[in-house]
Amino acid sequence: APALELDGVGLKIGGARILEDVSFGVARGEMVGVIGPNGAGKTTLFNTVSGLLRPTEGTVSMDGRPLGPLPIHRRAAAGLGRTFQTSSLFPGLSVVENVRLAAQARRGGSLSLLRFPRRGDAATAVAMDRLDEVGLTPLAGASAGGLSHGDKRKVEIAMLLATDPSVILLDEPMAGVGSADVPVLSAIIDRMHRETGRTILMVEHHMDVVLGLVDRVAVMHHGRLLAIDTPEAVMADPTVQSAYLGEAV
Ligand code: ADP
Ligand code: MG
Ligand code: MG
Repeated sequence: APALELDGVGLKIGGARILEDVSFGVARGEMVGVIGPNGAGKTTLFNTVSGLLRPTEGTVSMDGRPLGPLPIHRRAAAGLGRTFQTSSLFPGLSVVENVRLAAQARRGGSLSLLRFPRRGDAATAVAMDRLDEVGLTPLAGASAGGLSHGDKRKVEIAMLLATDPSVILLDEPMAGVGSADVPVLSAIIDRMHRETGRTILMVEHHMDVVLGLVDRVAVMHHGRLLAIDTPEAVMADPTVQSAYLGEAV
C-alpha cells in the first residue's frame, strides 16, 4: 500500500465546496510537489490529511490503514508530521528550546522515562542533532523571535525532524525567505528526502525548486486534482498550462 493515499477526498464548508474527489497515492520514500493557484485548496488538502479538518467525502490512509476520525495527535503518533504556512515558533524561547519541546512531544509526547532517565538532557541532545542537520548549531542559544525568516523556517524543519515523522507535509517551506536561503532550504529538504527515505508532500510556489526536488507533481485547481505526473509531463500538459493562464476547465 502507498505510504499515504487519498481516495475521493471532498470537503464542503458551509455549503461551499472546497475540495472535490481528490485521489492519489504517495509511495514510501517518494516526494510529491503540490502546486496550483492561490485558493486552489492546497493547504486545505493538508488540513484534511493532518486531521485538522475531517473530509466530508472519501478517505485518507497511511500504509493502507484508513485514518478515519483519528485526531491530529494520534496521526502524529502514527508518523505524520507537518509544517504550517505561517510560523509556529515560540518567539521568546531560544532556538534549541523550541526544538527540544518538539523532541519531547515526539510521537505524541511519550518520551520514555525508562529509556531516557535524564530526559531533559536526552531531548536537548536530539535537538542539537536536528539543529546540526539544518546548519543552525551556531544559533542554538539565540532567541527564536529574532531570527531571519529563512532561519525560522530551518528551525521549523528541525522541530519537525525532532518528532521523527515518516510522512511529512511541508506547506510553502520557502515562502517569504530571502533569496540566499532558498537554495539552502532546498538542499535541506533534498537531504531529508534522499538520505532518510521519508515520504514528503510539499506545497511550494518556487517552481524551479519544486521541479528540481520532486519525483512527481500534483496540480490542484478549484479544489480538484487536475494532474499528477512527473515534472516534465505535468509542465507539458495543456490542461495544466491553461489552468495557470486562468482559462481552465
Ligand atoms: P491554497 O492553500 O491552495 O492557497 P486554501 O486551501 O487555503 O488554498 O483555500 C482553498 C479555498 O478554501 C479558498 O477559497 C479559501 O477561501 C477556502 N477556505 C479555506 N479554509 C476555509 C474555511 N475554514 N472556511 C471557508 N472557506 C475556507
Ligand atoms: Mg495559498
Ligand atoms: Mg496555502
